Amino acid sequence: MKRAVFLDRDGVINDNKKPVNKPSDFIFFPWTFEALDLIIKANFSIFVVTNQGGIEMGYFTEENLKSIHDYMLEQFMNNNIIIDDVKHCPHFKTHCECRKPLPGMLNSLSQKYSVDLKSSYMVGDREMDIEAGKKAGCTTIKIGKPSPQADYNVSNLLQAAQLIIKI
Ligand SMILES: [Mg+2]
Ligand SMILES: [Zn+2]
Repeated sequence: MKRAVFLDRDGVINDNKKPVNKPSDFIFFPWTFEALDLIIKANFSIFVVTNQGGIEMGYFTEENLKSIHDYMLEQFMNNNIIIDDVKHCPHFKTHCECRKPLPGMLNSLSQKYSVDLKSSYMVGDREMDIEAGKKAGCTTIKIGKPSPQADYNVSNLLQAAQLIIKI
C-alpha cells in the first residue's frame, strides 16, 4: 500500500486571487516545486483533488480545464516533479459523491492506486478540504486561516511538506 499526499489545487499549488479559467491564469506559488520535491523524495504519491463546479456552471469547459491541467503538469515536469494523478469534480448542482466536502475523489484514487488512506495526508486551504480528508481517514493539514477541525495548521504548502516529512 502506498502513502499519498492529496492536494487541493487553488490556494495550495497556485495563487487563485483571480479565477483560473485558462492556462495563463495559473500562477504557481514560488515554493510549490520545492514542496512537491520534498514530498516525492519522502516516497509519497501525490494526487491533486479539485472541485471544478465552474464546469457545470458554464464558466469553462472540460477542454478548458484539461488545457489548464496539461499546463500545470508540463510545468511540474520542467521542474522534475512527477505527480500520480489529477482528479476533478465538475459538479455544482448535480448530486455527486465527488464534490468536497465529500471524500469521493480520495476514495476512488485510493482504490485505483492502492493508497492507504490512514497513513496519507490531505492538504487544503478550505474547510471542505479538511472535511473530505477527515471523512476519508487521512491526517489533515490546513493552509491559511487555522481550522479547529484540522490536525495541523500551517501557512503554505512548503510548511505542509516540511511537516509531513518529519511526522
Ligand atoms: Mg482551494
Ligand atoms: Zn462531483
